[in-house]
Amino acid sequence: MKAIATVPVHNPATGAVLTHVPSASLEEVDAAIGRAATAFPAWRAVAPGDRARLLRRFADLVDAHAEELALLEVTNAGHVIGNARWEAGNVRDVIEYYAASPERHFGLQIPVAGGIDVTFHEPLGVVGIIVPWNFPMAIAGWGFAPALAAGNTVVLKPAELTPLSALRIGELAVEAGIPPDVFQVISGKGSVVGWRFVTHPAVRKVCFTGSTEVGKGIMAGCAEQVKRVTLELGGKSANVVFADADIELAAARAPYGVFDNAGQDCCARSRILVERSAYDQFMALLEPAVRGVVVGDPLDERTEMGPLISPSHLEEVSSFVPDDAPVAFRGEAPAGPGNWFAPTVLAPVERSARAVTEEIFGPVVVVVPFEDEAEAVAIANDSIYGLSGSIWSQNVGRALRVARAIDSGNLSVNSHSSVRYWSPFGGFKQSGIGRELGPDALGAFSDVKNVFISTEE
Ligand code: NAD
Repeated sequence: MKAIATVPVHNPATGAVLTHVPSASLEEVDAAIGRAATAFPAWRAVAPGDRARLLRRFADLVDAHAEELALLEVTNAGHVIGNARWEAGNVRDVIEYYAASPERHFGLQIPVAGGIDVTFHEPLGVVGIIVPWNFPMAIAGWGFAPALAAGNTVVLKPAELTPLSALRIGELAVEAGIPPDVFQVISGKGSVVGWRFVTHPAVRKVCFTGSTEVGKGIMAGCAEQVKRVTLELGGKSANVVFADADIELAAARAPYGVFDNAGQDCCARSRILVERSAYDQFMALLEPAVRGVVVGDPLDERTEMGPLISPSHLEEVSSFVPDDAPVAFRGEAPAGPGNWFAPTVLAPVERSARAVTEEIFGPVVVVVPFEDEAEAVAIANDSIYGLSGSIWSQNVGRALRVARAIDSGNLSVNSHSSVRYWSPFGGFKQSGIGRELGPDALGAFSDVKNVFISTEE
């Protein structure tokens, strides 16, 4: 028998090898996709109430193992324990939320002449879900929960760097009674496993979260078979602070809008735009807030920011802060082993600088002044991305006006909230196509069929 190839996975806070996981070959991926295709007819035929019951049992098991899952995210992804607990709870909540939907996936009855006309939401078949390393288990759940609820079978590929939580969730699904071939987690390379989801004809939809660069290739590849695709890609979101905001609150919260998860967040508000008349006051308040961010051991309950994911990512983030970078101030980070980078504020910066235009995906933020509302909107929209953003103002009319004017999928006013599983999440422009979460997610995992029944024959 051929030996299974394995690769090491690391703890980003220490560099230590945690374990080894399989790295699937092309033959193994094909076999898994084949099993998922074979399992599809029986899974789609499971009565909606029974599918709902299985998903509820799955959610209960995730809940029972929430601390274990959180600890996997701490050790494998460097997430701080408070965030990791929230993420395990999010997986549970998302499964539970979509467990309610098989029984409520209503079609329409449309008034027509000569008969009745009804629509059905048919599952697509095998769905391939490709997950990045920054929120390994939460993003997995946003894909597999609605996909399974809609009656599809799922093959899911975690990121090479962070496969542990998804692999464990796959085991919990089986324990909950979901047939093993209905939901398979396959660890391996993007270029092998992920790309096979794109090229294999039995995979009818690819749900990809990751970089804009890889996402473009996925979209082009899916076009070959007119394969359905959802893309959740990069971001360079703006945190717009008007002079009429509660400046103290805006400055106190700004670090957490960008440095959460060490800035490795597609929704990171990595451009802070401040109305010029409030700029000096804001910067004076931002400095102690940034210096106060607690960076260190992700297992310590007091820690607010952990390490970057890998040595190569540390190098990439560092390239945005060369020796002559305009550093206004920085926080602290541990020395020694692990991929540590201190929270860093760059100002003043040229509008064309790389740090202003490119996604850094690390704890680096630029601060840019603006003169008035029109300029704030123009700067916020001066990006190829459009994922998220915040508006700080006590003028409700202005806040809503600016929220409507910014070309972004997820905006928050006087808050940095982006992801709430009850509401749709996704990007404008090169931040993606399609929406996850919210009441309509099942629509992304099914096709509408229209049936006319004559009453005249
Ligand atoms: P990445 O694009 O390098 O990898 C993402 C996933 O795609 C991984 O599982 C990887 O193995 C796989 N992959 C890589 N090459 C592939 C290929 N040729 N074919 C198929 N699959 C392939 O991204 P990353 O570095 O893991 O994640 C960081 C990026 O993800 C950032 O740009 C971030 O903004 C984005 N992101 C977006 C969202 C969102 O919801 N919009 C959420 C999280 C992360």
